Amino acid sequence: KHSGRNCVRAYDESEMMREEMDNQLVWKDRLLEALDRDELVLVFQPIVAIAAGRTSHYEVLVRMREKNGKLVPPGKFIPAAEQFGFIQRVDRHVLTKAIRYLAELPAEFSQTAFSINLSGMSVGSQEMYECIEKEVRESGVDPARITFEITETAACEQLTSAMEFIQKIRQLGCRISLDDFGVGFSSFSYLKHLRADILKIDGSFIRDIHNNNADQLFVKALVDVARGMGMRTIAEFVENEQVYDRVRSLGVDYVQGYYLGKPEQELIPASVEGRRPATISVA
Ligand code: C2E
Ligand code: MG
Ligand code: MG
Ligand code: MG
Repeated sequence: KHSGRNCVRAYDESEMMREEMDNQLVWKDRLLEALDRDELVLVFQPIVAIAAGRTSHYEVLVRMREKNGKLVPPGKFIPAAEQFGFIQRVDRHVLTKAIRYLAELPAEFSQTAFSINLSGMSVGSQEMYECIEKEVRESGVDPARITFEITETAACEQLTSAMEFIQKIRQLGCRISLDDFGVGFSSFSYLKHLRADILKIDGSFIRDIHNNNADQLFVKALVDVARGMGMRTIAEFVENEQVYDRVRSLGVDYVQGYYLGKPEQELIPASVEGRRPATISVA
């Protein structure tokens, strides 16, 4: 810009890295402040069981509330928390809030379940396990109503500790879902080692599946493998009816995406038939 208009200047790499670093430092401070002031907000996106046609659980997604009331998505600030080593604090904050909220829901939500994201840097941590164990015990919530989503790539980096962690969480009675499955350095052999309950197929294989034969073959194979291993499947990023029809015909068990419902600050059940969500206030 300083060099005037119509002038293209190479944006050198170190400059880009410094800018990125400055950004991360800003997010780090804002996030630490948000944690202290309890300004992290949870939003809930319905996950619909295709066979039952109704919302079976909600994915809990974190947002940061800005001064002007706007909600900042996690893609902005989670990387800073990971980079500066306090992502476990964020994950503990979110899961504590989510489990306590679940415990306080009115009776009509007694079957409602939550699916909570854990960073790969939280997976394998003894402190994280103890936090989960304590919150589940003290809340009195049926642990079967709580699923933890872990990303395959993260889980695969430290396989032994991830395996132990997953086993302990499942012994507690909670469920494990492998998030964003199929991207990164994935391999079917990990499915042998990581005993998960649910396989969440990455949205990149789903969003255009109605137009893409390779995606269809891939999802079909994953559904077969998952079923053979006693796991359920979720398709994320279901954005329209064509995608919904396709994943259903391929035997996927659950769907999540804007076609069913966006993340909201209230629990808004979605259904497949008619897809007309009934708003229920949980205030
Ligand atoms: P994810 O766990 O794979 O979550 C799915 C993301 O896709 C969410 O973005 C959701 O809003 C978005 N999404 C859902 N349906 C659709 C759709 O139909 N189309 C499109 N284009 N997008 C859809 P979000 O909320 O921005 O979260 C991004 C990621 O941040 C999450 O990916 C998750 O990895 C991470 N994240 C969110 N909350 C937490 C948390 O509490 N702890 C940790 N460690 N990570 C979190
Ligand atoms: Mg997730
Ligand atoms: Mg996902
Ligand atoms: Mg994803």
